[in-house]
Amino acid sequence: MTQPLVIKHNYRIVIAPRRLGDYGFMTVSERMAEPDPVRRAKLYHERCESMIEQIKRHIDDVGSVYIEHETECSCPYCGNSWTPDEKGYNGCCDEQELERDKELGVTKTEE
Ligand SMILES: [Zn+2]
Repeated sequence: MTQPLVIKHNYRIVIAPRRLGDYGFMTVSERMAEPDPVRRAKLYHERCESMIEQIKRHIDDVGSVYIEHETECSCPYCGNSWTPDEKGYNGCCDEQELERDKELGVTKTEE
């Protein structure tokens, strides 16, 4: 049976930054090192930018270096994952529902 010719291509090296909270002599969780997820992302981005500068300065034959990351959406009030309904509202917590009701002009009547 004919086997396909397998050619490897698009070679690259993936380098991950040292985890926040990894101090070498001791390690704590990244959430403990920086509880705020937005500031945590900013710190990782800065760490990656610094690594890119050092890679370009010290390593030969570098074609390009760029930052890749995953994106995750969460509710700004409760932190639950963001899976909005067809109108764009998450409905995960009271604060989100209050905001939705306010924007849609829904008034709830007390019984
Ligand atoms: Zn929420």
